[in-house]
Amino acid sequence: MTIIIALDIGGTQIRAAAFRRGSTTPETVQRTPTRGEGTAFERMCALIQSIWPEHGAVEKIVVALPGPLNPETGVIFSAPNIAGWENFPIGPELEKRFGVPARIGNDANLAALGEWRFGVAQGHHHVLYLTISTGIGGGVISDDRLLLGFRGLAGEVGHVTVLPDGPLCGCGQRGHLETLAAGPAIARYVQEQIKGGATSSLQGKKKITAREVSEAASQGDVLAIQALERAGTYIGQALASYLHLFNPSIVIFGGGVSFSGNLLLGPVKAALEKHVMDKSYLKDLVIANAALGDDAGLMGALALGLLPDKPDN
Ligand SMILES: [Zn+2]
Repeated sequence: MTIIIALDIGGTQIRAAAFRRGSTTPETVQRTPTRGEGTAFERMCALIQSIWPEHGAVEKIVVALPGPLNPETGVIFSAPNIAGWENFPIGPELEKRFGVPARIGNDANLAALGEWRFGVAQGHHHVLYLTISTGIGGGVISDDRLLLGFRGLAGEVGHVTVLPDGPLCGCGQRGHLETLAAGPAIARYVQEQIKGGATSSLQGKKKITAREVSEAASQGDVLAIQALERAGTYIGQALASYLHLFNPSIVIFGGGVSFSGNLLLGPVKAALEKHVMDKSYLKDLVIANAALGDDAGLMGALALGLLPDKPDN
């Protein structure tokens, strides 16, 4: 029986799990903080070592990584919050260290793959996945294949321009969806409106989070409701374009902000209706919450590990 080792590298923690081929329940799971003694790569290697099976052969190591990367060469171009991972050949380095094939994927892309293989999108062949938390990421599955693009950089659904010359995005450009509709943008909008004289139950708080905005909105706070409406409208506008490009049969929402439920999804759907070029894009379209939650990265890595090594795309 062979074993696939899956890793999910986050800004705060690294998780590793060993899966027997054919099983979706890990034999072992271990975690370690991303930052601490030694480099992130060394910490990651130590974690792999700690779950390396005594019996059974490791078939491959698969890693879900935060940041743009090339899944073919195994090079990560940059990783926010992880020092030294600029153009870092993480795949080849893992292969050298452990002597087994290593594959890497963008975590949001892999979450899409995980939902398609194990989660809410099982049975769908055309999937659009959006994760909305501190940033907005996603992944597209078209004809049962993860869309990767020329250098593996496709599927950056959070970095489309929805407001030219709008606020600065984490990527350095202006007016991207992420900087108008992710968690920090929702919180920032509320803070700005309060500063400008708007009233809200969140008044007087030094730092407001998107979760607090969501809670206030569910209790009827008008400004909080407005903030979610604004974010949802931007998301819906962008989503209409994604439907035109990819024509999915299911749209999945993941990430913390999606827990706002209909307070966010209502405006998303309204904007979608308004901006979609033909209603047939919406016919039988499933809109669902992600099923894999915190395990999306690990399960996505496992899904990648189960794909043939040289897919014909
Ligand atoms: Zn951006």
